[in-house]
Amino acid sequence: MICNFLTCILILSMLYIIIAIIISSMMYRRGRRRALTQVILTDKQKKLLAKHIKYYRQLSGTDKIYFEDKIEQFLDDVRIEGVGLMVNDLDRLMVASSAVIPIFRFKNWSYRNVTNVLLYPDTFDEDYQYEAADGRNITGMVGTGYMNGQMILSRNALIKGFSKNHGSENTALHEFVHLIDNADGATDGVPENFLPADCIKPWIHMMHQEVHKIETGHSDINPYAVTNEAEFFAVVSEYFFEKPDQFQTKHPQLYDMLSKVFAQSPSKGVS
Ligand SMILES: [Zn+2]
Repeated sequence: MICNFLTCILILSMLYIIIAIIISSMMYRRGRRRALTQVILTDKQKKLLAKHIKYYRQLSGTDKIYFEDKIEQFLDDVRIEGVGLMVNDLDRLMVASSAVIPIFRFKNWSYRNVTNVLLYPDTFDEDYQYEAADGRNITGMVGTGYMNGQMILSRNALIKGFSKNHGSENTALHEFVHLIDNADGATDGVPENFLPADCIKPWIHMMHQEVHKIETGHSDINPYAVTNEAEFFAVVSEYFFEKPDQFQTKHPQLYDMLSKVFAQSPSKGVS
């Protein structure tokens, strides 16, 4: 009897120790992540995400927290500055969401090829001027040469990309897809780090086939995609994330390939 009682006490004590170890390890991990992240989203900012970012709204509760973590991490890593405007919370959250959506399923991803995002009020020209009367037709770009590490975005285009009834275009997301494409060292429309080796040739063939359809007026994909392979990849990625159901119905093979690249299937609610 005494022996049974002592065994019970021993088992209960061990259980208590195991539970204490699990809880303290969870708290340590949470604390450690917080220590690494300085930006902590406020409830007001989370409400802005819910109101303006459809992708976030459709996530499960756990994935929403994961998304918020990634937003915080991005805002820690990348400075967002206004040129001729004051950057507000919603601007920051929209830029960060554009960055996070395509890499949402990549563990431990950080954009190594961008340190600053410059927000311009509207379109700009090739000399990065936004006040000229003519020739301002650029809505977003990733800098090269002395502009390396910089991204420029039109705030109007940024907001339009997340507004209702905006179609299949999202300029900011397009620019971040160029950075993902560039992760293997070449912005060439072939994201080698994210496509299985046996899919690369079929992907290139698929791009050329679709370019032919666009050129002959048999595709609903934005004709800007025919500029080159890099633009094709960025343009179809916008469509993939902005109108996933429509994209899957009209372009099932392209959809399957992009699901592999981004490791997600947004038509099914980001699974
Ligand atoms: Zn582009």
